[in-house]
Amino acid sequence: MNKYEVIVIGSGIAALTIANCLYKNKNVILYTKSNKLTSNSYKAQGGVAAAMEKEDTWEEHFLDTLTAGVFHNDVHHTELLTKNAIRYLTQLINDGMEFDQDQSGRLRLGREGGLMKRRILHSGGDATGKNLMDFMFRNVQDKLTIVENEMVIDLIVQNDQCIGIVTKAVHGEIRQYFAPFTIIATGGAGQIYKFTSNVETITGDGIAMAYRAGAVLADMEFMQFHPTILYKNGEILGLVSEAVRGEGGFLQNSRGERFMEHVHELKDLAPRDIVARAIYQQLHKGYDVFLNITQVKNFDNPSEKFCKSISYY
Ligand SMILES: Cc1cc2nc3c(=O)[nH]c(=O)nc-3n(C[C@H](O)[C@H](O)[C@H](O)COP(=O)(O)OP(=O)(O)OC[C@H]3O[C@@H](n4cnc5c(N)ncnc54)[C@H](O)[C@@H]3O)c2cc1C
Repeated sequence: MNKYEVIVIGSGIAALTIANCLYKNKNVILYTKSNKLTSNSYKAQGGVAAAMEKEDTWEEHFLDTLTAGVFHNDVHHTELLTKNAIRYLTQLINDGMEFDQDQSGRLRLGREGGLMKRRILHSGGDATGKNLMDFMFRNVQDKLTIVENEMVIDLIVQNDQCIGIVTKAVHGEIRQYFAPFTIIATGGAGQIYKFTSNVETITGDGIAMAYRAGAVLADMEFMQFHPTILYKNGEILGLVSEAVRGEGGFLQNSRGERFMEHVHELKDLAPRDIVARAIYQQLHKGYDVFLNITQVKNFDNPSEKFCKSISYY
């Protein structure tokens, strides 16, 4: 029987990134609750941010990120993220990951909330998450073991050390597995909200099991709300990417007022918390909120010129 050195819980981008870093030196096994393609990462549409243009710098990306985080961010980690994003994405491109380019071969960069510059790389239009995850799965296949449809329900802790996991398999069997290292990459908790674009497995399990094991949780009062999802007849039909506002889409209330004009200098591209709060205030006043896409060129769905938007992630 294989002896595994690292257990990774989850099969999103966080899990695959760490597995990709470790598999050369460690025997890695990954457990995921549903099938391996079920993750928010697979559904991510808008793209990934990095200062890839010559006219852009990681320092500007760093500052935009701190501003969007109202300077509550961990400065060291924000610096690591914005600096390493350039190196990491360059490496991905060199390894063969394809991001959308214009006719001259330059990356076609989009703009999203809180960014002062176009900085979003995308792949296959709005299929960035799917394309990136497929690429990463291809890279790690045969290099690690992936166990699907087995939900991790707890960590096994002995003398303040995590020594393994307890799982529940498809037919309800409870199993235990042991390894010197366990990495939790189970994503967030979007499914606790009535309206959400998150996949059904994103229920905060990792946060809860870490807490039960004695980990200290930080910043639990913060939940990121993506401002726009498509809501029709009481049903959520999917997320409307911020890239739509980056290409000229704008918010209006049912009186036709462009209410973001007076809220923030970046208007409809203000940081997400500001846009989400402004939408909430409109709803609270009794107005509906719509995303006007008439100015967005080559939009795929001309019959739906107005998307009704509500601010739940
Ligand atoms: C519709 C949508 C669009 C988005 N678009 C963008 C975008 O354009 N750009 C961007 O940067 N971000 C985007 N995001 C956010 C982004 O997808 C997430 O921040 C990111 O994917 C999180 O990655 P992760 O690996 O931490 O978690 P996830 O990708 O959510 O993966 C978590 C994994 O853990 C598994 N899991 C959960 N609980 C257990 C358990 N108990 N046992 C075993 N496995 C478990 C899940 O099934 C899943 O495989 C979007 C999110 C959504 C929902």
